[in-house]
Amino acid sequence: AKAEALNGPHYFDYYLMDKLLERVTIEKKMARALAEGQFELHYQPKVDSLSVTLTGYEALLRWKDPVQGNIPPNTFIPIAEDTGFIVELGEWVMWEACRANKRWQDAGLPKLPISVNVSAIQFRHPNFLRTVEKVLAKTGLEPRYLELEVTESLLNNPVLIKETLVELQDRGISLSVDDFGTGYSSINYLKSLPLQVLKIDRAFIQETPSSVRDSSLLQSIIHLGKSLGMTVLAEGVETKEQFEFLQQIGCDQVQGYYYSRPLDETAMQKLLESWREQLLS
Ligand code: C2E
Ligand code: CA
Ligand code: CA
Ligand code: CA
Repeated sequence: AKAEALNGPHYFDYYLMDKLLERVTIEKKMARALAEGQFELHYQPKVDSLSVTLTGYEALLRWKDPVQGNIPPNTFIPIAEDTGFIVELGEWVMWEACRANKRWQDAGLPKLPISVNVSAIQFRHPNFLRTVEKVLAKTGLEPRYLELEVTESLLNNPVLIKETLVELQDRGISLSVDDFGTGYSSINYLKSLPLQVLKIDRAFIQETPSSVRDSSLLQSIIHLGKSLGMTVLAEGVETKEQFEFLQQIGCDQVQGYYYSRPLDETAMQKLLESWREQLLS
């Protein structure tokens, strides 16, 4: 049907039309959803592989539509990026995440960093740095408790982003490379940019340790990250076997369903409470 629609005026492509309508609808809906409070953050813990201690948590955006139910971020984030709405949405995430972290610290819970996903479009926006500073100043959160996760694709043009990365680092904000291994960042970029954490994409974890090839690739990536002086984290760790293998091969931290799924605010607070004694003593 697609080819026919392109070749002549006699055919109407219902599939493409449907897709277009869906986009326009979802685009309008997003702005309203934000105003009406349909977005919320969930939090996924990160743990140290050897001590299995909580080291921090990542904020993950959730959209609860009253009619459609939960709309997954992989559906709406690409659209928000296309339309530019991600800038506003991302700013909201930054506020919510910093506020939540500060509130938990003020309540006497363990002081741990929160990670916020930052889309490349948001990062390249001229106001990005100012927004981060404003959020930190107004929430009163110390910069060392904020970590930004950026994907490899952002690093393709290191000249353009280096200044912002350095400014963030100067303020004490730490930076992670998300989904590592799925993009094409050169080792040289990794070396020349101030990046503290390498988050290895779930794709490399999924088939380990059963796949010899993936397991050896994984070991090489961990070695690479460590050689660059970075902290290495494996994401999407689902099984005990994967977890133990990662421990053995020296991966610093893990995140995934094996330790915990992303938690809503109440459940995250409970988890922090359960760590209070151990982490504050
Ligand atoms: P991501 O940053 O790579 O986040 C990890 C995703 O993997 C999350 O999906 C998480 O729920 C899921 N996950 C965690 N552990 C496991 C596991 O053990 N197994 C499996 N199968 N999945 C696991 P989620 O929450 O649906 O988010 C998808 C993506 O949407 C994120 O991938 C991130 O790229 C994007 N995203 C989410 N929140 C935000 C946000 O606030 N801003 C931006 N720019 N992007 C966001
Ligand atoms: Ca992430
Ligand atoms: Ca990731
Ligand atoms: Ca991902």
